[in-house]
Amino acid sequence: MFKAILLTRTEDKATQAAVTEVDEADLPEGDVTVAVSHSTLNYKDGLAITGKGPVVRSWPMIPGIDFAGTVTESAHPDFKAGDAVVLNGWGIGETRWGGLGAVARVPGDWLVPLPAAFTPAQAMAIGTAGYTAALAVLELDRQGVTPDKGPVLVTGASGGLGGVAIALLAKRGFEVVALTGRTQEEGYLKSLGAAAVMDRAEYAGPAKPLAKERWAGAVDAVGSHTLANVLSQVKYFGTVAACGLAGGMDLPTSVAPFILRGVKLCGIESVYMPKPERLAAYELLARDLDPNHLTAMTDEIGLSEAIPAAARLMEGQVRGRLVVDIAR
Ligand code: NAP
Repeated sequence: MFKAILLTRTEDKATQAAVTEVDEADLPEGDVTVAVSHSTLNYKDGLAITGKGPVVRSWPMIPGIDFAGTVTESAHPDFKAGDAVVLNGWGIGETRWGGLGAVARVPGDWLVPLPAAFTPAQAMAIGTAGYTAALAVLELDRQGVTPDKGPVLVTGASGGLGGVAIALLAKRGFEVVALTGRTQEEGYLKSLGAAAVMDRAEYAGPAKPLAKERWAGAVDAVGSHTLANVLSQVKYFGTVAACGLAGGMDLPTSVAPFILRGVKLCGIESVYMPKPERLAAYELLARDLDPNHLTAMTDEIGLSEAIPAAARLMEGQVRGRLVVDIAR
């Protein structure tokens, strides 16, 4: 038996979350078994645990879209007992049991070796949010957004994805502006590398088709009116990496930014990203993410604290990243 958060569904389809003992015999199929030491709470985990979004596709479910730990058994050629590994996405915590439990069993093809630069706790401080931020930064790079082209905007700046995006972009020499609803976090955002902080209220209303050119590029975690306003202010041939929907799934924009300014809107999808891109994202994180920034943006909690923390995350009260120490 091992300790895990288990999500169940009541007859009226409400989600119930509890820390409970789970039988290892009930673990899903997979060629690698991992003793999970750390997991994390991403926005998606908040949706799953609170039942506020249709993340969970199979019941009962151990949530957690990320984990880090040590291989205990492996029939996969790339991994052996004792290897330190990380997993982000691939549907764990959604369609099959995830990382918020002390044991996980998965296909070895989904695992990435824990980068030497990080402890398991640091890998989870990065988590899907940080690894997605790295994918977004690599996309801006691929699209030719360089520091000489002008400032870049990061939305949802006080969140996990936003914080890592700010740190990575600032390290690359960009003038980074942080869009936030929590302007009181100015000191924190500037400590990560933001040159300026902007109140998200400015982008809360309907966007004009085009507005004064402002941004060479952007990493967006928010969607909806925020993304529409960002698009209307992107400079000629700039790029926005669309990563999230914290402000809504809609996108009330027009074709104007695309056909009149050649703006590119690039979607970032982390869950089923092939392994080479994952390894490139971790290489970038290992090289450019200052561990002190990671410490500044992270709080550590125990497994039982993860359930109330998920509700706080949904209310926008969590700053940065939450690492879950499974043994605590
Ligand atoms: P998070 O830590 O909860 O951060 C989200 C941030 O968005 C909040 O801190 C807040 O920042 C801002 N926000 C929240 N509600 C808002 C609202 N109603 N209007 C405008 N801004 C709002 O979440 P995260 O883990 O960083 O994830 C951010 C988003 O990216 C989520 O939508 C998540 O689902 C998505 N995501 C997507 C992928 C992918 O593969 N595409 C991967 C990871 C995450 P401020 O307080 O600073 O304004």
